[in-house]
Formats: sequence, C-alpha cells, structure tokens
Amino acid sequence: MNALLVYPQCPDSYWSFRHALSFQGKRAAQPPLGLLTVAALLPASWDRRLVDTNVEPLKEADLVWADVVLLSGMLIQRDPLLSIVRRCRARGVRTVVGGPISSSLTPDELEADHIVIGEAEGLVAALARDIERGVAQPVYCAAERPSMEQSPLPDLSLVRMKRYGTMTVQYSRGCPFNCEFCNIVEIYGRRPRTKAVAQVLAELDQLCAAGWRGPVFIVDDNFIGNKVRVRELLSALIEWQREHQYLFRFITEASLNLADDEELLHAMRDAGFASVFLGIETPSEASLAAANKLQNTRRDMLASIARIQSFGMEVMGGFILGFDTDSEDVFERLVQFIQKSAIPIAMVGLLQAIPNTRLFQRLSREGRVLDTGGGNNTSCELNFRPHMNADRLIEGYRFVLRRIYSGDAYFERVREYLSRCRPHYGAHFSLANVRALFFSLMRQGVIGKARLSYWKFLLAALTRYRDCFGAAMTMAVMGYHFQVVTEQIVSAEPS
Ligand code: SF4
Repeated sequence: MNALLVYPQCPDSYWSFRHALSFQGKRAAQPPLGLLTVAALLPASWDRRLVDTNVEPLKEADLVWADVVLLSGMLIQRDPLLSIVRRCRARGVRTVVGGPISSSLTPDELEADHIVIGEAEGLVAALARDIERGVAQPVYCAAERPSMEQSPLPDLSLVRMKRYGTMTVQYSRGCPFNCEFCNIVEIYGRRPRTKAVAQVLAELDQLCAAGWRGPVFIVDDNFIGNKVRVRELLSALIEWQREHQYLFRFITEASLNLADDEELLHAMRDAGFASVFLGIETPSEASLAAANKLQNTRRDMLASIARIQSFGMEVMGGFILGFDTDSEDVFERLVQFIQKSAIPIAMVGLLQAIPNTRLFQRLSREGRVLDTGGGNNTSCELNFRPHMNADRLIEGYRFVLRRIYSGDAYFERVREYLSRCRPHYGAHFSLANVRALFFSLMRQGVIGKARLSYWKFLLAALTRYRDCFGAAMTMAVMGYHFQVVTEQIVSAEPS
C-alpha cells in the first residue's frame, strides 16, 4: 500500500514567519509533526511519502503513486485542504482527513472518504487494517484520549530538515485551564497527558543524529500543564543538554502562572529554554474574567512577564481583541501594555468563535454566530456579531497593529527585551546566518520603509548589545515578517 501524507498550505499570517524564514533560505517554520507521527503508526509493510505543500508542490505523479492520501490540518488550512481532497477524488484516490480540523468541521464539510476524529494513536491501526481489507468506515472516532506513552517516535526520515526553521517535539497534550474561546480543552482535555521522559530524549537523539542544530519547538498546548511531570522532564533535559554542549535552543508555550514558580523558571533556563509563548490575551481584567482566563487575573501581568524575562527567556505573547467586555479604550490600553511588556513578537488577533468551543456554543445560543469561520484571527473577518460595532472593532484592531509594528515601536521593544534577557544565540558563523544578514541589510536597511529605525537599532546592536548581536539580528529579521504581514492586514479591503 502506498500512503501519501499531505500537509495543506498554511496562509500567510503572523504564525507562518514566512517573510523572515526566506532570509535564511528556509521555506516553512516547522514540519507537520502530526503527520510524521501518523506515518510512524502505519503498518511497516506500507510505503510512505510526505508532501508538505508549504515547502513543495503536490505533483500529479505523487497522486499517481498513492493508493491512499492522508491529510491533516487546522481550520485555517480548510480551503487548501479541501482543494487537495477534491483533486484526489477527481483522480479516484482514496482520502483520509484527520487532525484538529476534523473536530471543527463535520464529515460532510470535509468531503473525504474517511474522517478520523480524535488522536491518531488509538485509531490508525484500525483504519489501516480496514483499508487493507476494503472495509474502511466513513468515520473513525476515538472512544478515549490515548496515553501519550503509546505515541511512536515520529518518522523524521520523511522530512528534509534544511527547509525548516525549527524542528518540533511534543511532550504533552491538554491544558488544565478552561478558557472559553479555546478548543484545546475540547480536543485534548483538561488533564494533561505526557510522554515518558525516555520518549522525549529519544526524539532529541533522533534530531541530533539526523544533524539538526538549532531551535526545537516543544509544541505543547501548555508545557507546564502537569508541573510534577515537567520537573522530571526538565531534570533530564538539563543533563541531555550538558552532555550535548547545549545543542538545542528550546521554545515552548505555557501559561502565565509560570511566573509564580521559581524552581520551574530556574530549570527551564538551565535546560536551554530561550523563548516561551504565553496567552496574555488582553489588559482588561473584566475581559479576562469573562473569558474564564482566570490564571491571568488578580496579578500584575507586566510584572509576571518581566519575571519570566529575568530568567533569560524571551516572552512571545498572544493577544485578542473583540471580547464582549472590551470597551473603546481597549485599543490604546493594549498598545501601551505591549510596549511596556518588552514583548517584540505580539500575536494580536481578533476573537474567533471556533466550532466546538464553549464560546461558539454560547454565541450560538445568543444567535450571534455568523459562520464557522476560517480559523485565521488576523483576517479581519468576524464569524460572530461582537458587542462593539464590528467596523469600529476592525478599525481599532488595525490601529493597534499599525502602532506596535511601526519601526520605532517594534525596535524599542526589542531593545528592552535584549536588556532584560541578554540572549546569546544566533551568533555562530553559518552560511544561513550570513545570507540572513545580507538580505536584512538589503531589504530592511536599503529599501525597507522602516530603514531609519532599522539603522538606529543596528547601531545599538553593534554597541550596547554586542554580546547578543546574533539574537538582535534574529529579532530584526523577525520584525520584517511582522511588518510585511501587518501591512497586508491594515491595507486589505474591508470585507
Ligand atoms: S491556557 Fe491556553 S491552552 Fe489552556 S485553555 Fe487557556 S487558551 Fe487554551
């Protein structure tokens, strides 16, 4: 049986990092880890190939080769995913769709021959057996959430690593919190499940043996969701990193209560965590409470962020506009908050009512849902009726983006981040780094709209931040991506 695993294209957004990655000759941020895990679960007798359409086209010859095409994706990939499903069906190739999108859309909406709802570990063996026998069902739905200790070593042999900016490892799934807008708890549950420490170390060994040197994103929903287990992991990571001369720079996602746990902060720093993404959402206490983001309430969030940064970790932040309790002053407050936070990478989006969330259910009851939405929270297309006038909300959203991604505002945050964290990565000599520096000087320093701010920053990087010049230039290049995407968002025609 020839199994073709296909990952649909992700649209250009803040999360794609596409415009920064091109400086280094990379094509996408990270490989599709879910499909690499599915590949490892398929019967050993099956031949398998991967086409990640973010880095290469899906060719007719691929479809001629395939007996079955397995697709995975998120809601944001719906349109490209559907176009691949239709292409396969037109050629008579059997299709299977799984991943988070199958929990957001109905089987009919996905149009595939077989839909897999739930996590692959408990389903792929039965699906493969039924396909071989010619008795595969239209829908496979996991009866329970599997133990992550059943999860195999992802099949890295299918990936050309040089095309990607970051490699990925998953340690846990699920999150103990219950934010109203989030679909993580609905899909993966509130009791975080983790891999065994040995599994994670085996994945790092695999990356190391395959020649990967660079950032590794631990793509957990909330890395500190199970604090007892994560302490065990961190002890092992510290040892592994020491034995391997701190080969990897880790990035992960966590909740803001990380700031309250000094022991955990020390351990993450010692294990080589350089960046952590936090869902901060909004400076409005009322909106946090209404969204049930209680872990961010009753605290000085700026102080919590600064505390995490004081352990050398860059904080990336997720922010949302469009809560029912947002008032007219939320836009200016958010700009001020982000500037004070020294968070260079601020992912600001509009609230989306994702199907299968408590928010979607509430808004449906209130008759305010317009459609299932496209999963892209920067698209300026609301899929529900907000309390604030919709045009005003979108105008305010664009105001925030224009302000925080103006050259001066962005580089001011980077300078403050460098002062607080003194990060020491990215300074080694490599062709990719030289290429990135050259393109940065050309695109940002010569023809870039923010070139004045850029040169001021470069001067500071060469004087005040010489010890962290590599990180400074990495952040400059990142800024280019955010400025390009911001330009697209603010100049798009109102829908
Ligand atoms: S903390 Fe993050 S992952 Fe957890 S429920 Fe809230 S938004 Fe979702």
